[in-house]
Amino acid sequence: MPKAVFLDRDGTLNVDFEYISDPEQIQLIEGVPEALRILRERQYILFLVTNQSGIHRGYLTWEQLEQCQKRLLELIGLGHDLFQEICVAPEMPDEPSHYRKPSPHFILEMMEKYHLSPYDGYMVGDKESDILSGINAGIQSVWVETGQAITPGIERYIMEGNCIRARSLLDFVQQSLL
Ligand SMILES: [Mg+2]
Repeated sequence: MPKAVFLDRDGTLNVDFEYISDPEQIQLIEGVPEALRILRERQYILFLVTNQSGIHRGYLTWEQLEQCQKRLLELIGLGHDLFQEICVAPEMPDEPSHYRKPSPHFILEMMEKYHLSPYDGYMVGDKESDILSGINAGIQSVWVETGQAITPGIERYIMEGNCIRARSLLDFVQQSLL
């Protein structure tokens, strides 16, 4: 059965500058290309799951987002088809949204579409909403220290055994990934 890693973008793959709209602002977090290379080598299917409320806030256009995604893939250097699918939730937190994390809907849809087992699925991110989307989808959540500061909620999920803590994506891949 295929294995999958669902990845948050800002604070997990690239430095979070909040509402990035210019491709020049895309700055990879250390070790990310190496981590993704290892994941691909181990035949994990990779998905990008990103909340981009800046679109509905009017801070960036879909076109600008597209340019930023292109730049991200260029910097990673593992080809333009690295991610099986990219899911972008453009809604603001107070707007109705089917996909905005902590919603598990994107993860659940992809698991069904690609016949993925929850036992072989990971959601990696730096915010509580990432951690919750993984928990809500029934897969393993991983919190990385490369973005937002830890919250009491995340601390509780870690303590309760519902979330793995890692210094970075590369640290998770090297230390915790089975
Ligand atoms: Mg993030």
